[in-house]
Amino acid sequence: MSSFIPVPDDSDFSFSNLPWGAVRWHDGAVHLATRIGDTVISLNMLRRAGFLADHSSLDDRVFNAFIECGPGAWLAVRTELQTLYRTGSDWEHHGARSACEAPADRVPPVLPVRIGDYTDFYASRQHATNVGMMFRDPENALLPNWLHIPVGYHGRASTVNVSGTEVVRPNGQRKGPNDPLPVFGPSTKLDFELEVGMILRGGPSDGSWIPVDQAEEHIFGLVLFNDWSARDIQQWEYVPLGPFLAKNFASTMSPWIVPYAALSESRCAGAEQAEPKPLPYLEQDRSASHWDIALEVSIAAEDGSETRISRSNAKYLYWSFAQQIAHHSINGCVIRSGDLMASGTISGNEPGSFGSMLELAWNGTRPITLSDGSQRSFIEDGDTVILRGHTERGPRIGFGPCSARVLPAKPWQK
Ligand code: MN
Repeated sequence: MSSFIPVPDDSDFSFSNLPWGAVRWHDGAVHLATRIGDTVISLNMLRRAGFLADHSSLDDRVFNAFIECGPGAWLAVRTELQTLYRTGSDWEHHGARSACEAPADRVPPVLPVRIGDYTDFYASRQHATNVGMMFRDPENALLPNWLHIPVGYHGRASTVNVSGTEVVRPNGQRKGPNDPLPVFGPSTKLDFELEVGMILRGGPSDGSWIPVDQAEEHIFGLVLFNDWSARDIQQWEYVPLGPFLAKNFASTMSPWIVPYAALSESRCAGAEQAEPKPLPYLEQDRSASHWDIALEVSIAAEDGSETRISRSNAKYLYWSFAQQIAHHSINGCVIRSGDLMASGTISGNEPGSFGSMLELAWNGTRPITLSDGSQRSFIEDGDTVILRGHTERGPRIGFGPCSARVLPAKPWQK
């Protein structure tokens, strides 16, 4: 099926995508929207033109209420958009059409959901192994719980920002292994984390849970996610309760939520989980438990020159998204519509597929050379980190860039 709106071959926003986003419209108001190629379509304006009549929550500024309506409503809106915008539709020459559309570069994106809670998992085996080797013991890199539990921590929803929002380098405490006492100042080990996030529909609130085989019915869609990390602060503070100020100063989310329904042709098998087998509440058919989504990371230096530093894939996750959701809710924890769960850094087996600078430059011991000749062990002020991702099977469906530039730390004063 094709649309009368042209889509460049390399566009992330093919007619099969129809992502969920929010933009600042010409009138200054935030409109919920979708996108075909470089054309943004306001769902609010479509409703004013008489379409999407059953979906009044699309007049909101965020998708939370619409997410609550469930997969039936999500599919109904997708189907109506596909009918309206397919080649040969009467809508192409309708007088009301132009008021519903805008070029993407004229309507800046804003966060499309009010994120109540954000959780970050640690679901890539290679990433957990690499970090364990550097921060603890190379012989016992993977902690004993890791192959049994999708390990995670509660992040901070207040500092999740939409792509394009600048990131201020954090100040904090650090103490190297040879320092007698901690010191305070701007982080010297600012890092990115290449992750995929899920925007979720709420679950039960009566102490019951979301079963693993029904977990995907709660996925509204996926985003790219950069869980910015200050490794020097992290290494000093994380014992025994886990990440805190090293993580919650900023996270960057791609603006367009790729619908769960758009990703059905990109399924692939997940890593086997035989040794050990997960406990029954996490057990899952692995034949199509994952998505084949090619991921990459680039650094753009201040002169604009861009260097791709990693290529990874969402299929490298050990714990699937369904397992993450099932584990998160098994204790009765309430998941609400609009919540965000991110996968954790997704690293492949090869050094060129690692999902953080910590791993790519092996904690500063193997600096990376950028195309302008400069070297990086971590992210420097003025650098822009750009995550990209698109499906490898079926029609090309992508996220658009998840990008943020780093600003210098604010000077501390009493
Ligand atoms: Mn993370």
